Amino acid sequence: MLLTTSVGSLPKPDYLTKARTQARKGELDAKALRELEERATREWIRTQEELDIDIIVDGEQYRGDMVAYFAEYFSGFKTSELVRSYGNRYYRKPIIVGKVGRRKPVTVEWWKFAQGLTTRPVKGMLTGPYTIMDWSFNEYYPSRRAATLAIAQVVRDEAEDLERAGAQYIQIDEPAISTRPEEMDLAIEALGIVTKGLRAETITHICYGDFNAIGPKLHKLPVDQIDLEFANRNFELLDFFKKRGRFPKAVGLGVVDVHSHRIESTDEVIANLKKALKVFKPEQIYVDPDCGLKTRTPEEATQKLRVVVEATKAVREELFD
Ligand SMILES: [Zn+2]
Repeated sequence: MLLTTSVGSLPKPDYLTKARTQARKGELDAKALRELEERATREWIRTQEELDIDIIVDGEQYRGDMVAYFAEYFSGFKTSELVRSYGNRYYRKPIIVGKVGRRKPVTVEWWKFAQGLTTRPVKGMLTGPYTIMDWSFNEYYPSRRAATLAIAQVVRDEAEDLERAGAQYIQIDEPAISTRPEEMDLAIEALGIVTKGLRAETITHICYGDFNAIGPKLHKLPVDQIDLEFANRNFELLDFFKKRGRFPKAVGLGVVDVHSHRIESTDEVIANLKKALKVFKPEQIYVDPDCGLKTRTPEEATQKLRVVVEATKAVREELFD
């Protein structure tokens, strides 16, 4: 009960950030980059073991953007010219230009590498079909629904391959869901294609957006666990769950804010965990940071994860007393 985990991404060490820039400019070959990605993955696995996190992640040291990473490996996508996102940030957005497919498994090789380094379960990490569709341009499928359902089949194949390789936990991130609540039914339908009949424990992570709009349908998401950011919203989401009676799924409880440099104190996380235990049963709760930690420094990320584990252990001890 009260197992600890991470949402997915962990920060890249400086040597890897530099190497990725060099590789983009053609100054470093793929093999040399790969070796550094493996080194960073090994370091993060060891750190998570030392911190005593129960369900660990590979830290996505070899990934950039969570949608572009899959679009790069899936067939049917190409990349746009630079488009403007928030403020003055520019990025390349995937474009669907043909039938979406998969030449070979995208995440299985890295998952096997990471799982080979530890006896703790390593989560398989996928981006959900709705988010891939919503964060891409569609120039091929007749509708957003058609595009989403086609992508769902490909993500499904990926999930099956992860399960076959031995993944006990498969997380399918859908952060776009909460920004377009009017399409929540489509996201639910697509996620159902991905998770149907899987034996692995399935998780979806959702962040940003308007939880009042999507909240009433959260229980319909076809996964075993729903992972949400609680810390960044002052645990106000607990009131939402309290009002609605017993929630039928496991909950990933984000207890540290990934957008803040401030390291939470163990005591405040303990207090918030106890608040959550008034709403959820201990066996229902997985404790983690609000979201991926990739925007923090490696030191900040490690400190925040340490607080997650220390607070959880303190609460577990009280529960068992
Ligand atoms: Zn997130």
